[in-house]
Amino acid sequence: MTTGAPARRAAAAARDAADLLFVNGAVRTMGPAPTTVSALAVRDGRIAAVGSDHELSMLAGPSTRVFDLEGRSLLPGFQDAHVHPTLGGWAILTCDLHGLPWDREAYLVRIRDYGAANPDEAWIVGGGWGMPAFPGGTPSRHDLDAAVPGRPVFLENRDGHGAWVSSRALEMAGLSAATPDPADGRIERDLDGSPQGTLHEGAANLVRRLIPPFTPARWEDAILAAQAYLHGFGITAITDAWVTAEHLPAYRALAGRGELTLRTQLSLWWDRVGGLEQLEWFEEARRTATIGRLRASTVKLMLDGVLENFTGALLEPYLDAAGRATANSGIEFIDPERLTRAIAPALDAAGFQLHFHAIGDRAVRSALDAVEAARRVNGPGDRRPHVAHIQVVHPDDLPRFGALAVGVTMQPLWAAYEAQMRDLTIPFLGPERSAWQYPFRSLERAGARLVGGSDWSISTPNVLHEVEVAVNRVAPESRGVEPPFLPDERLELASALGAFTAGAAWANRLEHETGTLERGKLADLVLLDRDVFDRGAGEIGDARVLLTLSEGVAVHADPSLGW
Ligand SMILES: [Zn+2]
Repeated sequence: MTTGAPARRAAAAARDAADLLFVNGAVRTMGPAPTTVSALAVRDGRIAAVGSDHELSMLAGPSTRVFDLEGRSLLPGFQDAHVHPTLGGWAILTCDLHGLPWDREAYLVRIRDYGAANPDEAWIVGGGWGMPAFPGGTPSRHDLDAAVPGRPVFLENRDGHGAWVSSRALEMAGLSAATPDPADGRIERDLDGSPQGTLHEGAANLVRRLIPPFTPARWEDAILAAQAYLHGFGITAITDAWVTAEHLPAYRALAGRGELTLRTQLSLWWDRVGGLEQLEWFEEARRTATIGRLRASTVKLMLDGVLENFTGALLEPYLDAAGRATANSGIEFIDPERLTRAIAPALDAAGFQLHFHAIGDRAVRSALDAVEAARRVNGPGDRRPHVAHIQVVHPDDLPRFGALAVGVTMQPLWAAYEAQMRDLTIPFLGPERSAWQYPFRSLERAGARLVGGSDWSISTPNVLHEVEVAVNRVAPESRGVEPPFLPDERLELASALGAFTAGAAWANRLEHETGTLERGKLADLVLLDRDVFDRGAGEIGDARVLLTLSEGVAVHADPSLGW
């Protein structure tokens, strides 16, 4: 009898022993009452315990891997509720201009090199150029004609709201001085009316439709490249903000083979020329894409364009360069009447989360009106609508986010002074509306839920850069050079990091399993190279991700860690 007890105790200890025990760290739980403890134990892919080194020491068994955090931050895996892994992966695999300086010559060197390295590609496609590199923000076809003579070229703007094309591409698409602008876009023109080489918004589709599509296997490569890139920034869960029937088979295949290590919610693209017959496809996608870490229960509704090309929908018109009101107040891609009366209530009734793109104050208001209408018809429910971008918010609309339980999916990197803001936005909004931009702190104070999203490949998915800007309102590359942009809208560090953990987990519908460090949740974790809450440890954006775990398994490990 007495000999049995120690053996039973040993067996129980072995059964309870952690697979992995982190000790001596700054383990920040990021819950509603955030606490910092020093240790965290992982067993069977889940968090077995959080507490002090002493409390958790009994979970160290003979086969437990004990890891000394050396005072560094261990946080819930980062989440991104608005990101484009398909576009980002596509960019990685094509003529990629992201990451280059905003400089015309740098772009042309890359394009020339890419053309020379890929002589047999029927089209040169890619993207990532920034408007500030060109006079008026509009690159010319003549530059492409000189860099890669005679070849069709199609290069997306880094914000996805325009394309730079060569003369051969225009010719193949049959575009000339006689071609009228489409309803949903604009052809930039030379003085004689001929296409200049920049196509805005829907006008880019006139050429885009000619590009040979990626095969499903190529899309799988793109998503895997994006996944590895995102894991490198500590990201363990996302919402892909733009998914069409072209991408779905690749996601399903990867999830089916267990290769999708990123928890992925798919926002199914609302085709604005179609109608409610799309529900059939959405429902089929949702049914067939519930595999492993994959879900598809969100619909993306793009309500307007962007301010820099005057397609963001404003309540009052844009100003001209001299500060006078123009006749243009932007484009609403989805008729607000139709959105409010039919589309939003029907999608909501079918159980889909509404995910809006809204930049201008008119589009933001339309999104809120649509949610309000859906609630009126269907009751409150738990659909978690969220609005991405929210660049200009009319002060009257600030309290509506909290009241309607609409998430604010913010891209903090955009809330800083840089050329695009200074030269292409502020003059055309005027001082009053310029001060309504990215009002994150006002929204938080008004009871809104803040959600983090990078909008990569438009901006970097580096969460630590995003958090630094949310806290300082100065871009990392402009530290000490630029003043803070609307400093009253700066967030506390805990709020900013909270948006990229618990906040995004809410939008991704994953808060029961992830987003905070609590016993029983999945061991989706990120280890940084310092304690980011120690303000003596340098700028937040200089912190690096050393280790990313998904369910306790490393999906990214810095070589220096020897993991
Ligand atoms: Zn986006």
